Amino acid sequence: MDLKSNHNSPVLTDPASLSKSRLGLPSNMTPCSPAALPFSSSVSSPRKKLNKDLISECQLDDNDAAYQTWMINYPSALNSFHLITSYAKCKTVALFLDYDGTLSPIVDNPDHAFMSSAMRAAVREAANHFPTAIISGRSRDKVHEFVKLSELYYAGSHGMDIMGPIRISESVGDHPVCIKTTDSKGKEVHLFQPAREFLPMINEVYKSLIEITSNIIGVKVENNKFCVSVHYRNVDKRMWDEVGLRVFGLIKGFPRLRVTHGRKVLEVRPVIDWNKGKAVEFLLESLQLSQRNDVLPIYVGDDRTDEDAFKVLRERIHGFGILVSNVPKETNAYYSLRDPSEVQEFLKSLVRWKKFTASQTEDYNIDLMCIG
Ligand SMILES: [Mg+2]
Repeated sequence: MDLKSNHNSPVLTDPASLSKSRLGLPSNMTPCSPAALPFSSSVSSPRKKLNKDLISECQLDDNDAAYQTWMINYPSALNSFHLITSYAKCKTVALFLDYDGTLSPIVDNPDHAFMSSAMRAAVREAANHFPTAIISGRSRDKVHEFVKLSELYYAGSHGMDIMGPIRISESVGDHPVCIKTTDSKGKEVHLFQPAREFLPMINEVYKSLIEITSNIIGVKVENNKFCVSVHYRNVDKRMWDEVGLRVFGLIKGFPRLRVTHGRKVLEVRPVIDWNKGKAVEFLLESLQLSQRNDVLPIYVGDDRTDEDAFKVLRERIHGFGILVSNVPKETNAYYSLRDPSEVQEFLKSLVRWKKFTASQTEDYNIDLMCIG
Protein backbone atom coordinates (compact mmCIF):
# COMPACT_ATOMS: atom_id res chain seq x y z
CA MET A 1 0.00 0.00 0.00
CA ASP A 2 1.34 3.37 -0.92
CA LEU A 3 0.01 6.84 -0.56
CA LYS A 4 0.63 9.28 -3.35
CA SER A 5 -0.40 12.78 -2.55
CA ASN A 6 -0.71 15.87 -4.65
CA HIS A 7 -2.29 19.13 -3.54
CA ASN A 8 -5.80 18.11 -4.43
CA SER A 9 -6.29 14.38 -4.35
CA PRO A 10 -4.36 11.91 -2.25
CA VAL A 11 -4.48 8.42 -3.76
CA LEU A 12 -4.15 5.22 -1.76
CA THR A 13 -2.52 2.60 -3.94
CA ASP A 14 -1.29 -0.96 -3.59
CA PRO A 15 1.66 -2.15 -1.44
CA ALA A 16 5.08 -0.68 -2.10
CA SER A 17 6.91 -3.98 -2.07
CA LEU A 18 9.87 -4.13 -4.41
CA SER A 19 9.21 -4.84 -8.05
CA LYS A 20 10.82 -7.87 -9.57
CA SER A 21 12.76 -5.75 -12.04
CA ARG A 22 14.47 -3.99 -9.14
CA LEU A 23 15.44 -7.39 -7.83
CA GLY A 24 16.97 -8.29 -11.16
CA LEU A 25 14.01 -10.44 -12.20
CA PRO A 26 12.15 -8.54 -14.94
CA SER A 27 8.49 -9.62 -15.07
CA ASN A 28 8.87 -11.02 -18.60
CA MET A 29 11.75 -13.20 -17.45
CA THR A 30 10.21 -14.78 -14.38
CA PRO A 31 10.84 -18.51 -14.19
CA CYS A 32 7.15 -19.42 -14.48
CA SER A 33 4.98 -16.79 -16.11
CA PRO A 34 1.29 -17.41 -16.92
CA ALA A 35 2.04 -17.02 -20.65
CA ALA A 36 4.29 -20.04 -20.50
CA LEU A 37 1.50 -22.31 -19.26
CA PRO A 38 0.35 -25.05 -21.60
CA PHE A 39 -3.35 -24.11 -21.65
CA SER A 40 -4.89 -21.39 -23.74
CA SER A 41 -7.75 -19.17 -22.51
CA SER A 42 -10.26 -20.99 -24.74
CA VAL A 43 -9.97 -24.30 -22.92
CA SER A 44 -12.90 -25.98 -21.22
CA SER A 45 -13.94 -25.27 -17.64
CA PRO A 46 -11.97 -28.02 -15.76
CA ARG A 47 -8.90 -26.99 -17.69
CA LYS A 48 -9.54 -23.37 -16.83
CA LYS A 49 -9.61 -24.33 -13.18
CA LEU A 50 -6.38 -26.32 -13.52
CA ASN A 51 -4.85 -23.40 -15.39
CA LYS A 52 -5.88 -21.06 -12.58
CA ASP A 53 -4.39 -23.41 -9.97
CA LEU A 54 -1.15 -23.63 -11.88
CA ILE A 55 -0.96 -19.85 -12.17
CA SER A 56 -1.50 -19.53 -8.42
CA GLU A 57 1.22 -22.07 -7.72
CA CYS A 58 3.60 -20.34 -10.09
CA GLN A 59 2.85 -16.95 -8.53
CA LEU A 60 3.63 -18.43 -5.12
CA ASP A 61 6.94 -19.81 -6.41
CA ASP A 62 7.58 -16.48 -8.08
CA ASN A 63 6.96 -14.54 -4.84
CA ASP A 64 9.17 -16.91 -2.92
CA ALA A 65 11.95 -16.51 -5.48
CA ALA A 66 11.71 -12.71 -5.13
CA TYR A 67 11.82 -13.00 -1.33
CA GLN A 68 14.85 -15.31 -1.44
CA THR A 69 16.63 -12.84 -3.72
CA TRP A 70 15.77 -9.97 -1.37
CA MET A 71 17.13 -11.98 1.58
CA ILE A 72 20.60 -11.89 0.06
CA ASN A 73 20.71 -8.25 1.19
CA TYR A 74 18.52 -8.65 4.29
CA PRO A 75 19.30 -12.11 5.65
CA SER A 76 17.16 -13.85 8.21
CA ALA A 77 18.16 -12.88 11.76
CA LEU A 78 17.59 -16.53 12.70
CA ASN A 79 19.92 -17.87 10.01
CA SER A 80 22.47 -15.15 10.87
CA PHE A 81 22.18 -15.70 14.60
CA HIS A 82 25.82 -16.72 15.07
CA LEU A 83 26.97 -13.58 13.31
CA ILE A 84 24.66 -11.41 15.42
CA THR A 85 25.88 -12.95 18.67
CA SER A 86 29.48 -12.55 17.57
CA TYR A 87 28.80 -8.78 17.39
CA ALA A 88 27.03 -8.95 20.73
CA LYS A 89 29.86 -10.76 22.53
CA CYS A 90 30.91 -8.88 25.70
CA LYS A 91 28.34 -6.17 24.96
CA THR A 92 25.08 -5.10 26.59
CA VAL A 93 22.28 -5.84 24.15
CA ALA A 94 19.44 -3.28 24.34
CA LEU A 95 16.19 -4.44 22.75
CA PHE A 96 13.63 -2.16 21.12
CA LEU A 97 10.44 -3.79 19.90
CA ASP A 98 7.53 -2.47 17.88
CA TYR A 99 4.16 -3.98 18.84
CA ASP A 100 1.63 -4.39 15.97
CA GLY A 101 2.85 -6.82 13.31
CA THR A 102 5.98 -7.52 15.35
CA LEU A 103 4.79 -8.99 18.66
CA SER A 104 1.17 -9.39 17.62
CA PRO A 105 -0.39 -10.37 14.29
CA ILE A 106 -2.02 -7.68 12.15
CA VAL A 107 -5.76 -8.19 12.58
CA ASP A 108 -8.88 -6.62 11.09
CA ASN A 109 -9.93 -4.99 14.36
CA PRO A 110 -7.02 -3.06 15.91
CA ASP A 111 -8.63 -3.48 19.36
CA HIS A 112 -8.10 -7.23 18.99
CA ALA A 113 -4.35 -7.18 18.26
CA PHE A 114 -3.58 -9.41 21.21
CA MET A 115 -0.19 -10.99 21.71
CA SER A 116 -0.08 -14.70 22.51
CA SER A 117 0.86 -15.87 25.99
CA ALA A 118 3.89 -17.64 24.45
CA MET A 119 5.04 -14.32 22.96
CA ARG A 120 4.44 -12.58 26.29
CA ALA A 121 6.60 -15.19 28.03
CA ALA A 122 9.35 -14.71 25.42
CA VAL A 123 9.29 -10.92 25.85
CA ARG A 124 9.30 -11.23 29.65
CA GLU A 125 12.32 -13.55 29.55
CA ALA A 126 14.10 -11.22 27.14
CA ALA A 127 13.40 -8.25 29.43
CA ASN A 128 14.85 -10.20 32.37
CA HIS A 129 18.16 -10.46 30.50
CA PHE A 130 18.33 -7.27 28.41
CA PRO A 131 17.09 -3.69 28.84
CA THR A 132 13.92 -3.85 26.71
CA ALA A 133 11.52 -1.18 25.46
CA ILE A 134 8.35 -1.32 23.39
CA ILE A 135 8.03 1.57 20.93
CA SER A 136 4.58 1.70 19.36
CA GLY A 137 2.30 4.02 17.45
CA ARG A 138 -0.46 3.14 19.93
CA SER A 139 -1.06 5.13 23.08
CA ARG A 140 1.28 4.11 25.90
CA ASP A 141 -1.65 2.92 28.04
CA LYS A 142 -3.09 0.85 25.20
CA VAL A 143 0.16 -0.94 24.41
CA HIS A 144 0.74 -1.58 28.13
CA GLU A 145 -2.77 -3.07 28.29
CA PHE A 146 -1.85 -5.47 25.47
CA VAL A 147 1.63 -6.40 26.73
CA LYS A 148 0.85 -6.49 30.48
CA LEU A 149 4.49 -6.62 31.56
CA SER A 150 6.06 -4.33 34.14
CA GLU A 151 9.64 -5.34 33.31
CA LEU A 152 9.71 -3.11 30.22
CA TYR A 153 9.94 0.53 29.24
CA TYR A 154 7.07 1.82 27.12
CA ALA A 155 7.07 4.50 24.44
CA GLY A 156 3.64 5.19 22.96
CA SER A 157 2.44 7.50 20.17
CA HIS A 158 5.56 6.80 18.04
CA GLY A 159 7.84 7.71 20.94
CA MET A 160 6.02 10.95 21.83
CA ASP A 161 4.98 9.52 25.21
CA ILE A 162 7.80 7.76 27.03
CA MET A 163 7.78 6.44 30.56
CA GLY A 164 11.39 5.79 31.43
CA PRO A 165 13.55 4.75 34.33
CA ILE A 166 14.49 7.26 37.00
CA ARG A 167 18.20 6.44 36.75
CA ILE A 168 18.17 8.95 33.99
CA SER A 169 21.20 10.92 32.89
CA GLU A 170 21.23 14.60 33.84
CA SER A 171 20.94 15.86 30.27
CA VAL A 172 17.71 13.86 29.81
CA GLY A 173 16.24 14.77 33.21
CA ASP A 174 16.86 18.45 32.50
CA HIS A 175 14.83 18.35 29.29
CA PRO A 176 11.98 20.91 29.55
CA VAL A 177 9.29 18.36 28.66
CA CYS A 178 10.61 15.64 30.95
CA ILE A 179 8.90 15.42 34.33
CA LYS A 180 9.24 13.19 37.36
CA THR A 181 6.13 11.23 38.24
CA THR A 182 5.08 7.83 39.59
CA ASP A 183 3.84 4.82 37.64
CA SER A 184 0.76 2.71 38.47
CA LYS A 185 2.73 0.87 41.16
CA GLY A 186 3.94 4.06 42.80
CA LYS A 187 7.49 3.69 41.44
CA GLU A 188 9.19 6.97 40.57
CA VAL A 189 9.68 7.38 36.82
CA HIS A 190 10.43 10.03 34.26
CA LEU A 191 7.72 10.98 31.81
CA PHE A 192 8.80 12.46 28.50
CA GLN A 193 6.08 14.03 26.34
CA PRO A 194 7.61 16.38 23.77
CA ALA A 195 4.21 17.02 22.12
CA ARG A 196 2.21 17.75 25.27
CA GLU A 197 1.09 21.18 24.01
CA PHE A 198 -0.68 19.43 21.10
CA LEU A 199 -3.10 17.45 23.29
CA PRO A 200 -6.14 19.80 22.89
CA MET A 201 -5.58 19.99 19.12
CA ILE A 202 -5.26 16.20 18.80
CA ASN A 203 -8.49 15.70 20.75
CA GLU A 204 -10.30 18.18 18.50
CA VAL A 205 -9.03 16.42 15.36
CA TYR A 206 -9.98 13.01 16.79
CA LYS A 207 -13.60 14.14 17.22
CA SER A 208 -13.69 15.70 13.73
CA LEU A 209 -12.23 12.57 12.11
CA ILE A 210 -14.90 10.40 13.72
CA GLU A 211 -17.55 12.79 12.43
CA ILE A 212 -16.32 13.08 8.84
CA THR A 213 -15.72 9.34 8.38
CA SER A 214 -18.84 8.13 10.20
CA ASN A 215 -20.67 7.25 6.96
CA ILE A 216 -17.80 5.21 5.48
CA ILE A 217 -18.32 1.59 6.50
CA GLY A 218 -15.26 -0.05 8.09
CA VAL A 219 -13.31 3.07 9.11
CA LYS A 220 -11.91 2.90 12.63
CA VAL A 221 -10.56 6.07 14.22
CA GLU A 222 -8.26 5.50 17.19
CA ASN A 223 -7.06 8.15 19.65
CA ASN A 224 -3.45 7.33 20.50
CA LYS A 225 -3.08 10.38 22.75
CA PHE A 226 -0.42 12.24 20.72
CA CYS A 227 -1.54 10.97 17.33
CA VAL A 228 -4.78 9.81 15.77
CA SER A 229 -4.94 6.69 13.60
CA VAL A 230 -7.50 6.22 10.85
CA HIS A 231 -7.59 2.50 10.03
CA TYR A 232 -9.08 1.60 6.64
CA ARG A 233 -8.24 -2.14 6.56
CA ASN A 234 -11.95 -3.00 6.65
CA VAL A 235 -13.07 -0.36 4.16
CA ASP A 236 -14.17 -1.34 0.65
CA LYS A 237 -11.14 -0.75 -1.61
CA ARG A 238 -13.21 1.57 -3.83
CA MET A 239 -13.59 3.94 -0.86
CA TRP A 240 -9.89 4.13 0.11
CA ASP A 241 -9.29 7.31 -1.87
CA GLU A 242 -12.36 8.88 -0.28
CA VAL A 243 -10.89 8.15 3.18
CA GLY A 244 -7.63 9.81 2.10
CA LEU A 245 -9.46 12.83 0.67
CA ARG A 246 -11.41 13.42 3.86
CA VAL A 247 -8.42 13.00 6.19
CA PHE A 248 -6.15 15.24 4.11
CA GLY A 249 -8.97 17.73 3.61
CA LEU A 250 -9.40 18.10 7.37
CA ILE A 251 -5.68 18.29 8.16
CA LYS A 252 -5.24 21.11 5.63
CA GLY A 253 -6.80 23.31 8.31
CA PHE A 254 -4.16 22.26 10.87
CA PRO A 255 -0.74 23.33 9.58
CA ARG A 256 0.94 22.07 12.76
CA LEU A 257 -0.23 18.52 12.09
CA ARG A 258 0.81 16.08 9.36
CA VAL A 259 -0.40 12.75 7.99
CA THR A 260 1.83 9.69 7.69
CA HIS A 261 0.98 6.33 6.16
CA GLY A 262 1.36 2.91 7.75
CA ARG A 263 -0.06 -0.55 7.05
CA LYS A 264 -3.62 0.33 5.97
CA VAL A 265 -3.66 3.22 8.41
CA LEU A 266 -3.33 6.98 8.09
CA GLU A 267 -1.80 8.65 11.13
CA VAL A 268 -2.24 12.28 12.07
CA ARG A 269 0.53 13.62 14.25
CA PRO A 270 2.16 16.86 15.35
CA VAL A 271 4.83 18.43 13.19
CA ILE A 272 7.68 18.10 15.64
CA ASP A 273 11.19 16.81 15.15
CA TRP A 274 10.46 13.53 16.92
CA ASN A 275 10.05 9.93 15.76
CA LYS A 276 10.85 6.35 16.78
CA GLY A 277 14.54 6.93 15.98
CA LYS A 278 14.71 9.86 18.39
CA ALA A 279 12.87 7.76 20.96
CA VAL A 280 15.56 5.07 20.70
CA GLU A 281 18.27 7.69 21.26
CA PHE A 282 16.32 9.14 24.20
CA LEU A 283 15.84 5.73 25.82
CA LEU A 284 19.51 4.80 25.38
CA GLU A 285 20.45 8.06 27.07
CA SER A 286 17.88 7.45 29.81
CA LEU A 287 19.35 4.03 30.43
CA GLN A 288 22.85 5.56 30.50
CA LEU A 289 23.85 3.37 27.57
CA SER A 290 24.42 6.06 24.95
CA GLN A 291 27.98 7.02 25.79
CA ARG A 292 29.30 3.47 25.92
CA ASN A 293 30.88 1.51 23.11
CA ASP A 294 30.03 -1.85 24.65
CA VAL A 295 26.31 -1.58 23.83
CA LEU A 296 24.51 -3.24 20.93
CA PRO A 297 21.00 -1.85 20.31
CA ILE A 298 18.69 -4.09 18.28
CA TYR A 299 15.36 -2.78 16.95
CA VAL A 300 12.68 -5.11 15.59
CA GLY A 301 9.74 -3.62 13.66
CA ASP A 302 7.53 -4.09 10.63
CA ASP A 303 6.31 -0.68 9.56
CA ARG A 304 7.44 2.50 7.81
CA THR A 305 7.58 4.41 11.08
CA ASP A 306 10.17 1.86 12.28
CA GLU A 307 12.46 2.93 9.43
CA ASP A 308 13.38 6.09 11.41
CA ALA A 309 14.75 3.82 14.13
CA PHE A 310 16.51 1.51 11.64
CA LYS A 311 18.14 4.57 10.09
CA VAL A 312 19.38 5.93 13.42
CA LEU A 313 20.84 2.54 14.30
CA ARG A 314 22.48 2.21 10.90
CA GLU A 315 23.89 5.73 10.71
CA ARG A 316 24.49 7.00 14.23
CA ILE A 317 24.38 4.23 16.79
CA HIS A 318 26.29 1.03 16.27
CA GLY A 319 23.33 -1.28 16.27
CA PHE A 320 21.00 -2.80 13.71
CA GLY A 321 17.41 -3.10 12.71
CA ILE A 322 15.46 -6.24 11.91
CA LEU A 323 12.52 -5.79 9.53
CA VAL A 324 9.55 -8.10 10.05
CA SER A 325 8.14 -8.75 6.59
CA ASN A 326 7.17 -11.67 4.38
CA VAL A 327 7.50 -9.59 1.21
CA PRO A 328 10.53 -7.73 -0.16
CA LYS A 329 10.60 -4.08 0.95
CA GLU A 330 13.06 -1.22 0.81
CA THR A 331 14.46 -0.83 4.30
CA ASN A 332 17.26 0.55 6.45
CA ALA A 333 17.28 -2.64 8.51
CA TYR A 334 20.20 -5.09 8.28
CA TYR A 335 18.29 -8.31 8.88
CA SER A 336 14.79 -9.71 8.42
CA LEU A 337 12.27 -12.01 10.06
CA ARG A 338 9.16 -13.23 8.28
CA ASP A 339 6.49 -12.81 10.98
CA PRO A 340 5.84 -12.55 14.75
CA SER A 341 6.44 -16.29 15.24
CA GLU A 342 10.01 -15.80 13.96
CA VAL A 343 10.36 -12.76 16.26
CA GLN A 344 9.38 -14.99 19.16
CA GLU A 345 11.97 -17.58 18.12
CA PHE A 346 14.62 -14.88 17.80
CA LEU A 347 13.90 -13.55 21.33
CA LYS A 348 14.08 -17.06 22.75
CA SER A 349 17.38 -17.70 20.95
CA LEU A 350 18.82 -14.47 22.37
CA VAL A 351 17.89 -15.52 25.91
CA ARG A 352 19.37 -19.02 25.40
CA TRP A 353 22.57 -17.43 24.10
CA LYS A 354 22.72 -15.01 27.06
CA LYS A 355 22.22 -17.81 29.58
CA PHE A 356 24.88 -19.91 27.88
CA THR A 357 27.47 -17.10 27.82
CA ALA A 358 26.68 -16.28 31.47
CA SER A 359 27.27 -19.91 32.47
CA GLN A 360 30.54 -19.97 30.49
CA THR A 361 31.72 -16.85 32.33
CA GLU A 362 30.75 -18.44 35.66
CA ASP A 363 32.73 -21.61 34.81
CA TYR A 364 35.69 -19.48 33.77
CA ASN A 365 35.60 -17.53 37.06
CA ILE A 366 35.41 -20.79 39.06
CA ASP A 367 38.42 -22.11 37.11
CA LEU A 368 40.33 -18.92 37.88
CA MET A 369 39.48 -19.25 41.58
CA CYS A 370 40.67 -22.87 41.56
CA ILE A 371 43.95 -21.88 39.88
CA GLY A 372 44.30 -19.00 42.37
MG1 LIG B 1 4.11 -2.34 13.59
